[in-house]
Amino acid sequence: MRLRPYLCKMSFFKTARPFVIAGPCSAETREQLLETAAALSTKNIQLFRAGVWKSRTRPGSFEGSGPIALEWLQEVKHQYGLKVTTEVAEPAHVETALKHGIDSLWIGARTTVNPFQVQHLADSVKGVDIPVMVKNPVNTDVDLWQGAIERFEKVGIKDIAAIHRGFTGYRAAGGYRNQPNWPIPIELKRRKPDLPIFCDPSHITGNRDRIAEVAQKAMDMHFDGLMIETHPRPDEAWSDAAQQVTPQMLKELLDGLIVRDEFTRDMTGLMQLEYLRQHMDSLDAEIIDLIAKRMELSEQMGEVKRACNMTAFQPGRWREIVETRGEKAAAQLLSKEFIVELYEKIHHESIRRQLLVLDSKDKEIKK
Ligand code: PEP
Ligand code: MN
Repeated sequence: MRLRPYLCKMSFFKTARPFVIAGPCSAETREQLLETAAALSTKNIQLFRAGVWKSRTRPGSFEGSGPIALEWLQEVKHQYGLKVTTEVAEPAHVETALKHGIDSLWIGARTTVNPFQVQHLADSVKGVDIPVMVKNPVNTDVDLWQGAIERFEKVGIKDIAAIHRGFTGYRAAGGYRNQPNWPIPIELKRRKPDLPIFCDPSHITGNRDRIAEVAQKAMDMHFDGLMIETHPRPDEAWSDAAQQVTPQMLKELLDGLIVRDEFTRDMTGLMQLEYLRQHMDSLDAEIIDLIAKRMELSEQMGEVKRACNMTAFQPGRWREIVETRGEKAAAQLLSKEFIVELYEKIHHESIRRQLLVLDSKDKEIKK
């Protein structure tokens, strides 16, 4: 991996791309923490992480070593010159962390879901110059994520980054511990273009064998950094054992990462892209024209259905659309799932328009 320095130091989080945060899920013992830090101090990371208070899904799991671990983090900072970060979930955590000179704080996924709690945390850092990272909420709600970030902006925090750690699903679909739902961080980036967004492939995959693949994808989706859980003996970790990597594995993963840029100065490439984009723009114009025509047909169908006293939605017809469009997609080597999802949206809009036709005529009759 070739590190890409930013041209000027724009913020705490924009010193390199990828900005790498590594360290164990939990600070277990002083020895474990210092051993991890010693190994990571030569691995080109920007921030050392360790959970001091652990918000566990069920009681009885290891809930963190508490404030004593902040002293170990201080040692990490002084012995290895690493900047350190930990998760805070209550104003009392913030106060203790700040007293121990922690360089940056992060808000966990289970906290981001709660605006009251986030506001308490934001109030507790008001007037403090501390960089804050906000993990996505466990549910797929981009507004809630953005809202939590805005609460920190509003109290004057200058350096804020978002961390994409995936979203809870009922089952581990696609083999992920937490579903990545990439459109959500992409939407956040569209809304807040200057906000650095990091990816946490450890919590997304829950599986150390898949971290490299998700980290590469994040870089190719133009993420700004990575948070990767690192432990000297991952299998013995007191939390999240299956997803932690050794410092050596982290080094290999980072060395193997291809960091591509958003822009290029390659004129031939730029011209080819321009040609393809123009072609794509005209295809998109055709697609929109076709959709408009399809919607016109829907409205005419609404008239017929009203005249025949039929419902706007017919389950049998919808089954047929899913089947035939799915088959056509597969024949064209398109993902069936993608085309069906697209048709769900188109069909939904079509039904909405038909309902408007039925509804307006009903009102006319009632007059
Ligand atoms: C963690 O980073 O160890 C953690 C608990 O993260 P999350 O809030 O993403 O579950
Ligand atoms: Mn963890």
